[in-house]
Amino acid sequence: MDLQIERVAENEARPKPDQNALGFGRHFTDHMLVMHYTEGKGWHDAAIQPYRNFSLDPAAMVLHYGQAIFEGMKAYRGKDENIYLFRPADNIERLNRSAARLCMPQLPVAEVLLALKELLRLDRDWIPSANGATLYIRPTMIATEAALGVRPAKQYLFFVILSPVGAYYPEGFNPVRIYVTDKYVRAVPGGVGDIKTAGNYAASIMAAVEAQQAGFTQVLWLDAVERRYIEEVGTMNIFFVIGDEIITPPLGGSILPGITRDSVIQLVRDWGLAVVERRISITEVLAAQEDGSLKEIFGTGTAAVISPVGSLHYQGQDCVINNGKTGALSQRLFDEIQAIQYGVRKSPHDWVTSL
Ligand SMILES: *Cc1c(COP(=O)(O)O)cnc(C)c1O
Repeated sequence: MDLQIERVAENEARPKPDQNALGFGRHFTDHMLVMHYTEGKGWHDAAIQPYRNFSLDPAAMVLHYGQAIFEGMKAYRGKDENIYLFRPADNIERLNRSAARLCMPQLPVAEVLLALKELLRLDRDWIPSANGATLYIRPTMIATEAALGVRPAKQYLFFVILSPVGAYYPEGFNPVRIYVTDKYVRAVPGGVGDIKTAGNYAASIMAAVEAQQAGFTQVLWLDAVERRYIEEVGTMNIFFVIGDEIITPPLGGSILPGITRDSVIQLVRDWGLAVVERRISITEVLAAQEDGSLKEIFGTGTAAVISPVGSLHYQGQDCVINNGKTGALSQRLFDEIQAIQYGVRKSPHDWVTSL
């Protein structure tokens, strides 16, 4: 891949945001990676350029038929000043699975990773050093061909933008209150719930807004057919600790195969704990809470790593988990994964690469 590099002019470099008030997804760095695809020609014109607006035809197919897919990953600045990436090839491979499902072109994984590392080297000064703060990486692919009519587009744009983000838990864990909806559904088997495509998130907004208006942080989705079996939370997979068993819903095609989910499964197996991927109904969870065997619930995802669940609200009832406190396993997993991501602890499965 021939990568053109156009550096931002010194007087046009963006001012760096206050490291202690980054928030999430509000600031973007000086450069971005772009690459174009044309049917018959393949990927071409890969470039790192100053962060700037795109020019899109109003008929660009993504605006009408939603061929849009993305990823979410992070770069971590270690205490040793090395920059670490956590399982980055898994993200690009997942983007390729999303692309395949929407009849979009495959990306060359190794070359995209090399170009991403080049981009990170150029914007290295943007990677925050505050504990827990990171550089969020957003690879995205959209259909740019100007045409109406539902079919796969013949032209695409792939781009990567970078956003410095603050620590998810500046003052320690904050267990979340979750609303279990049986009014809306997120995905059906055979649909697109197992890929990161823009429309899934548009479709989820109304349930999230209603839950927030009622005082909850996130929505827990149930299966679309029986509205009984647990699927996942907003942008997190979910785990339950019941008795001696750690349970997470299986990848049945309607939930997102999280890389954090997979890492948690591998780690707890390394620790000799029993983890099962099986269907679990909301009634089973509530019954386990009743008989005292429900110990912990936590979500997993790149943004928060581990998100302890303090309570579930289902059909007018509140179910408080572990007295609303962070469980021991949640804490252990969070500490372990963070230590691996920041290069403090040696990664058990070659999960970490550095710039
Ligand atoms: C991104 C995402 C996750 C978590 O995936 P990670 O790879 O762990 O970040 C879970 N569910 C949904 C719907 C997501 O979009």
